[in-house]
Amino acid sequence: MSFVKIPTRKSIESLDVYVAGKPIEEVKRELGLTNIIKLASNENPLGCSPSAKSALKQTIDHVTLYPESMAPDLAEKLAYKLTVNKENILISNGSDEIIRLLTRAYIGSGDEAIMADVTFPRYETNVHIEKGIPIKIPLIDGVHDLEGMLKAITDKTKMIFVCNPNNPTGTIVDKDPLKQFIERVPENILLIIDEAYYEYVQDDRYLETVPLLRDHPNLVILRTFSKIYGLASLRVGYGIMHPSIVPELAKVKEPFNTNRFGQAAALASLDDIDFIKLCAQYNTSERRYLEKEFDQMGLHYFPSHGNFLMVKLERPGKEVTEKLLKQGIIVRSGHLLGYDDTIRVSIGKQSENQRLIQVLREIIRETV
Ligand SMILES: *Cc1c(COP(=O)(O)O)cnc(C)c1O
Repeated sequence: MSFVKIPTRKSIESLDVYVAGKPIEEVKRELGLTNIIKLASNENPLGCSPSAKSALKQTIDHVTLYPESMAPDLAEKLAYKLTVNKENILISNGSDEIIRLLTRAYIGSGDEAIMADVTFPRYETNVHIEKGIPIKIPLIDGVHDLEGMLKAITDKTKMIFVCNPNNPTGTIVDKDPLKQFIERVPENILLIIDEAYYEYVQDDRYLETVPLLRDHPNLVILRTFSKIYGLASLRVGYGIMHPSIVPELAKVKEPFNTNRFGQAAALASLDDIDFIKLCAQYNTSERRYLEKEFDQMGLHYFPSHGNFLMVKLERPGKEVTEKLLKQGIIVRSGHLLGYDDTIRVSIGKQSENQRLIQVLREIIRETV
């Protein structure tokens, strides 16, 4: 077969393809295992609300018709819930898409974007794609160094990303310092606060950012239906922002970025407040269980407020990840996330967490 190498744009030459958490189907196929536990992608182990499922069934009858481009029903319901206007909301194909739309619309060649090191990798990748320059400020004990991020501002700075809780460490930035940070970031810089795990946080030190939008038109808050709402496969997220930003992002989005199924399921899930409460409580109690077990094993971990924990193992995370995989447990190796000697585990169902601990104990015993 002949092979023509057509060069890609310079800005994507050095990029790697995103390595996703291994899908259950792939592990079944490759290892011939049937019982697989996936604790790799921070999905909701309790599934989604039953109302989302019935909305999906009803949507089948309308599968032929294009969805509404801006998902107005969903935007309106979210606006009501958040006490903002629907013009403040852009519904997206997962919150991943909003990150891409923001860089597409605002980052030009040589523009700088400040972010933590380490944090959610999509910020950096999308900045690179647009020929921008990611400025990465090391975390301090797994927490954003807000002072360091402020100091990194130059006249080239176009946007700042704060991931709160931070993926992969799970840490939050305290209310007061974050509030002061928001006040100190100049208005000509977009300040993007990624709150993908917002609904999981049960801590008084967590800042409610939405009320600050009124005084800070440069603020963009990202949320998603992929995590606690349990709708990851449907790809629905949203951004809350000043109404003048929404049409700019709409210019660079696909006309039908979210589909009918995602819109309908997300809309229906919003009514089931009890399900969300239950999931948050379950997660906190299972996270405590895992922390207690890690403590007993003498393992350190970052103080997480999300549905995942990053554990330090004093041995290569990659190796432990492979051993866990052979036992049918999929986790995320820290070497993919910037911390070689760690793994990141999603908080699963009680039985899954117990199994994880059992197998992890065996692995650690045999490698000492
Ligand atoms: C999971 C996640 C997202 C993106 O999720 P979507 O499925 O695209 O909505 C964004 N930010 C962080 C920090 C995440 O962990």
